[in-house]
Amino acid sequence: MKETAPIETLKGIGPKTKEIFLKAGIPTVEELLHYYPRGYERMESPAPIAALREEETAAVCAKLEGSLITRRAKNFPVTIGMLRDESGTIAVNWYRMPFLANTLQNGKKYIFRGKVTKKGRQLLLMHPAIFEEEKYEELQKEMQPIYPLVQGLTENLLKKNVKVALESTDSFLEWLPKEIQSRYQLAEIGYALHQIHFPKNEYELHLARRRLVFEEFLLFLLSVRRLKKKKEKEITIYQMKETKEIENFQKNLGYELTGAQKKVWKEIEEDMKKNTAMARLVQGDVGSGKTVIAVMALLMTAQNGYQGAMMVPTEVLARQHYESIVRLFEKNGYPYHVTLLTGTMTAKEKKAAYEEIESGKASVIIGTHALIQEKVVYRNLALAITDEQHRFGVKQREELLEKGNYPHTLVMSATPIPRTLAVILYGDLDISVIDELPSDRLPIKNCVVDTTYRPKAYRFIEKEVERGHQVYVICPMVEESEAIEAENVMDYTEQLKKALPLEISVVCLHGKMKAKEKNKIMEDFAAGVIQVLVSTTVVEVGVNVPNATVMMIENAERFGLAQLHQLRGRVGRGKDQGYCIMIHAAQGETIKKRLEILNQSNDGFYIAGQDLKLRGPGDLFGIRQSGMMEFKIGDVFQDAKILQDANEAVNQILTEDPELILEKHQKLKKKAEHYVMSDSGTLNL
Ligand code: ADP
Ligand code: MG
Repeated sequence: MKETAPIETLKGIGPKTKEIFLKAGIPTVEELLHYYPRGYERMESPAPIAALREEETAAVCAKLEGSLITRRAKNFPVTIGMLRDESGTIAVNWYRMPFLANTLQNGKKYIFRGKVTKKGRQLLLMHPAIFEEEKYEELQKEMQPIYPLVQGLTENLLKKNVKVALESTDSFLEWLPKEIQSRYQLAEIGYALHQIHFPKNEYELHLARRRLVFEEFLLFLLSVRRLKKKKEKEITIYQMKETKEIENFQKNLGYELTGAQKKVWKEIEEDMKKNTAMARLVQGDVGSGKTVIAVMALLMTAQNGYQGAMMVPTEVLARQHYESIVRLFEKNGYPYHVTLLTGTMTAKEKKAAYEEIESGKASVIIGTHALIQEKVVYRNLALAITDEQHRFGVKQREELLEKGNYPHTLVMSATPIPRTLAVILYGDLDISVIDELPSDRLPIKNCVVDTTYRPKAYRFIEKEVERGHQVYVICPMVEESEAIEAENVMDYTEQLKKALPLEISVVCLHGKMKAKEKNKIMEDFAAGVIQVLVSTTVVEVGVNVPNATVMMIENAERFGLAQLHQLRGRVGRGKDQGYCIMIHAAQGETIKKRLEILNQSNDGFYIAGQDLKLRGPGDLFGIRQSGMMEFKIGDVFQDAKILQDANEAVNQILTEDPELILEKHQKLKKKAEHYVMSDSGTLNL
């Protein structure tokens, strides 16, 4: 079988499983093989029950003692029992597995592997995986992958099918040119794919990973170069005139732009006055005030009689930007029409928006991916902005560009990457940096504490709410599934409600909710109707509710530092003092050290650098820098050297063969085209 075969050609995949894979964005065997683990675990040798300790993950070789009893707890069945080996006994439970009573044989020894917790004074093995003894010995020979789970995928489903895929694929297409492979000493593709899923040891894993990171960067950089080449030819018909109104607009803002904002605005204004299309990246830490710069560019575009569009990654953000722009335009008495276009609007609303865009009634258009749908026809799109760039792919950026006739483009990002790397990653863009926060900002006050501090934190939240402020609470994360996560956040919200006075409105937000529901909640929060917002993982990027002053993060140890920094950036966006309370459930020196970095600094660049130092290049799969440049496997910071190598390789390839016409580059070319067309071009979460 070939790598490119559809997923259902794998043995054992029926229509139902196929559906699950398709939903999770894994339509082919190739996609499955490139669905990389987020970490690995070694199967421990079984330990005597008497030696088990709370909080550890352990395996025991034991028999069931007595029979299993299933009870309903909350709204799912819990099966309870007792395990015995020569050294002692331990209680055990499973969730949602009432059938175990029929499948586990009494008197037979199994390996049970799971987390040891404490229930009352007794130890409990929680929801352990169950193995036959021989099977477990097999597993101990390799490191076992831990996969990121999305939408119905389970660990077992992935493991099983990846194994089948690896075993039944007989031709892995080696598409890297030989020269490149040998110059950079890169492992072969078949080997790399085997070892990335089931590595024999860390060394083999390292080799495999290096190859896959290299190829990911290489493909990305090739696609960026395509944009660059286009740009160089672009003469734009949208050469603009400077307008006096921009000055008035600035005067009416109610605050003075920072020096950095003024400098960046000048660069943009100069660009748009040229007859070549602007292609510029605006980098600025969270809260540095990028939005207002984008609005000025949109205003200048409207005043020149053209259309400007801003694409953002989420509904919530689109609505928020839309409303603030409408408000600003009304306040200034501008006649320009602003149109919103998002996926969850009704067919009728969308139709109206399409008409406004096509007729030219819309001067400013704000929206999500909906902006690049086929149906949308722009009358004269002269400026295309993407906000929170790291959430979009090169392809999406390109699609927005293609909606116009060489429009000016502006890309906004809060990703704190050093200039040397930014130049490589955004090779097609000029770079502006807003390296200054508004002067009225008080630095956020941080504290890093353990769970015993919770009651105090709740009192603090209460006080802030009494002062008229609002609060975000990021809820503990749950690995098992989205459904359990949703349940968990609801439970947590209930507890929090009980801990806070009745009149405080506490509402929860989670991934299982419908977009409409989420929008409503975010709107209510922005309007101040909701005081405490409890949310699962990430409160939408870029959300701006300046009245929120407290960010409390549970299980802070599970987040990447960059992500924590982004979360923290949701507070301290106004004149009031902002607070960030990071609560860690697990103990440990590294955890403390990592969080301490955030405690010390509010500067995204500094944090990213320190995080890297602490993790060191040996740390293959630390917590990823999620929320930033999200490659599937590469990490811009940690793999900076590989990024530079890949960049050098791309330079060599394109110097020798700019159009990729040589025979030896044909496979590479095909792969690169496929990359641009697929969603792998997305630096998405
Ligand atoms: P980000 O750069 O993270 O996108 P925003 O553009 O959302 O940040 O700005 C954050 C907040 O700061 C907004 O409420 C905005 O109105 C405000 N703001 C922007 N520039 C300034 C400034 N120069 N002085 C004071 N407040 C500002
Ligand atoms: Mg923003």
